[in-house]
Amino acid sequence: MNKTAINYYVDERGYFGDFGGAYIPEMLYPNVEELRQNYLSIINDPAFQQEFRELLKDYVGRETPLFHAKRLSAHYGTTIYLKREDLNHTGAHKVNNTIGQILLAEKLGKKRIIAETGAGQHGVATATVCALRGLECVVYMGEIDIKRQAPNVARMKMLGAKVVPATSGSKTLKDATNEAMRDWINNPVDTHYIIGSVVGPHPYPDMVARFQSVISAEIKKQLKEKTGSELPDYVMACVGGGSNAMGTFYHFLEDESVQLIAAEAAGLGVDSGKSAATTILGQEGVLHGSRSILMQTEDGQVVEPHSISAGLDYPGIGPQHAHLFKTGRGKYVAVTDDEAMQAAHLLTRLEGIIPAIESSHALAYLEKMTFRGDEKLVVCLSGRGDKDLQTYMDYFNL
Ligand SMILES: *Cc1c(COP(=O)(O)O)cnc(C)c1O
Repeated sequence: MNKTAINYYVDERGYFGDFGGAYIPEMLYPNVEELRQNYLSIINDPAFQQEFRELLKDYVGRETPLFHAKRLSAHYGTTIYLKREDLNHTGAHKVNNTIGQILLAEKLGKKRIIAETGAGQHGVATATVCALRGLECVVYMGEIDIKRQAPNVARMKMLGAKVVPATSGSKTLKDATNEAMRDWINNPVDTHYIIGSVVGPHPYPDMVARFQSVISAEIKKQLKEKTGSELPDYVMACVGGGSNAMGTFYHFLEDESVQLIAAEAAGLGVDSGKSAATTILGQEGVLHGSRSILMQTEDGQVVEPHSISAGLDYPGIGPQHAHLFKTGRGKYVAVTDDEAMQAAHLLTRLEGIIPAIESSHALAYLEKMTFRGDEKLVVCLSGRGDKDLQTYMDYFNL
């Protein structure tokens, strides 16, 4: 098939090739439909764009640097740039999306924000923008996750959010998602549901990708300034649900000379039963309201994923990633916990940057690549490692 004939973006029906759509309960239809009908006209309005850009600049601290990591480059014998999303306010890329969605919620006249969170990172990014704009914030979180992620729960509370424990099922992310959906069904008029990655029913995957696409827009501009060409040979990112990767890939999708590499979490190993390597282990199916690829049993039960990094501990990927995987436009690779931890250590010692363990999965794949020496690579450093300090302390005996 002629690759240039493939559409990598969303179509009118809300699909990316075979994936996407809106598989939602009837009761949720009015909410999702209101969003679907309005999101593009709101986002594309110049006044919205100006307000979004101003907040990204003055509140988040964009644009984030594109850093030529010279010692890391010398180590691998090629040229590596790091897109420093770790320098954003709140320490990761997630805030790009929550800023966009809170502005959109305001335009829709919503007064109340709900979200669900697993590790708490998206909950913190949501609570942050709710404090910024003075909106009520309710975050659903599995009871077990609340215990595991105490510092993020404290952050959300300090920011004024109400953290509601999900006590059913496995008491983790899946159950928190169900609670958030139930809340939205019961509060269709005044409430907006902020989803934190490129997942969920249409239009969320496309909407979140658009908000995160600022990452690749900046990379192109910065590479052009630094090297004279806006196109690298590779762009690389880690994939949980896939929002930082989608933001990193977005403006390169039709530049077929640029190889897109997405690193998934292999956990203790792809065959260990303790993994989150969705594209290797998964099949097509419906998860969180869209058709995508997910890890499931033969009778369709979602498999509990595992990764040392909470942000990659997700049993699926967004539908646009499923499409990039299936069409071969993106290369999806699996990186183990140990490989990611070693890559985190290497970056810290060579560049003085302690990365999030999520981002370290993308860095770890550098070990498995071979270089001529004249390539240009861009790796998205999705977040900083402060939140992972306890894990690093335990792993490295610090
Ligand atoms: C949440 C998170 C991720 C994973 O989410 P995506 O939607 O796949 O980007 C990756 N890195 C960091 C630092 C995170 O906080």
